Amino acid sequence: MRILSGIQPTGSIHIGNYLGAIKQWTELQEKNECLFFIADLHALTVPYQSEELQKNILETATSHLAAGLEPEKSILFVQSEIKEHTELCWLLNTVCPLGDLERMTQFKEKARQFRNHLNAGLLVYPVLQAADILLYKTEAVPVGKDQVQHIELARTIARKFNQRFGKTFPEPKALLAKQGAKIMALNNPRQKMSKSLGPQNYLSLFEEPKEISKKIAAAVTDSGKQIKYDLKRKAGLANLLTIYSSFSQKSIKELEKEFRGKSYAYFKKSLSELLTNSLEPFRRKRKELLLREVYVRETLKLGAKRARTIAESAMSEIRQKVGLV
Ligand code: ATP
Ligand code: MG
Repeated sequence: MRILSGIQPTGSIHIGNYLGAIKQWTELQEKNECLFFIADLHALTVPYQSEELQKNILETATSHLAAGLEPEKSILFVQSEIKEHTELCWLLNTVCPLGDLERMTQFKEKARQFRNHLNAGLLVYPVLQAADILLYKTEAVPVGKDQVQHIELARTIARKFNQRFGKTFPEPKALLAKQGAKIMALNNPRQKMSKSLGPQNYLSLFEEPKEISKKIAAAVTDSGKQIKYDLKRKAGLANLLTIYSSFSQKSIKELEKEFRGKSYAYFKKSLSELLTNSLEPFRRKRKELLLREVYVRETLKLGAKRARTIAESAMSEIRQKVGLV
């Protein structure tokens, strides 16, 4: 299968990004044709520092290699280096229903979060995402739950384009992780963990042991006593149980049994230890890669070259179909 997915260089990647998306990517790259990209154009839709952007892109690339992406097995590139993404975005804008964009949950949430920076790019974000996906005739997109609505829209856009201009794009399907498709914020279990919500809401994949203990100890839970998975009444604890289960290969049922009669503090301490050990290889790999900037840059350069070959050929077919020469 042709697989593609992206991540924005909007901050340190966190365990939600890993469990929902990147972990799937590392598994899928073994047997599929995979493209993964750093969505720098998407990141421009929210406030950012232009002088920091290149550093953040490099940092995100380094983080992905540290998280297990292998350039021999998948193509890693920077979105803005392939001009065809924006060209196709424009064409898809002309087939995408406006009403669908206004209904997107992410648009509504980000419009609220960045009230004073509400630009048209934030509204059109899912069309650029559809262009990212369709440009490579992608069949499956491994993402977190929050992105499923956008993938549905990409399917709608593909269908409309195909109806009007003849069969061009496969309808891409979303691939969701069995567990961890929506990790919630540590400081607010009703909100998804997000890079852009600040370091108190997330646990970085490269968090130092001291910080892990601090953040897990401070994670919002209810004032109950029983370690039990109850999404409605114990959303914070349920989130921590999901994280525990995802990193330990123990089921939630097993964990409830293991921690029966134990306090929340005891459970949190055990979770901190688990995370300290589980994230250690990521921290180590990242430290190694930070010393190999040239290698990371070369990887991105080669990735862009490979992606460009696919994108240029697809775009020439698409231009013909819509009547451009
Ligand atoms: P931002 O706040 O800038 O939007 P983000 O944390 O939402 O950052 P993205 O770059 O938007 O991260 O998304 C990258 C991938 O991570 C997507 O596939 C997305 O669905 C997934 N993802 C993001 N947050 C979570 C989460 N809390 N749980 C599981 N998957 C997530
Ligand atoms: Mg996001």
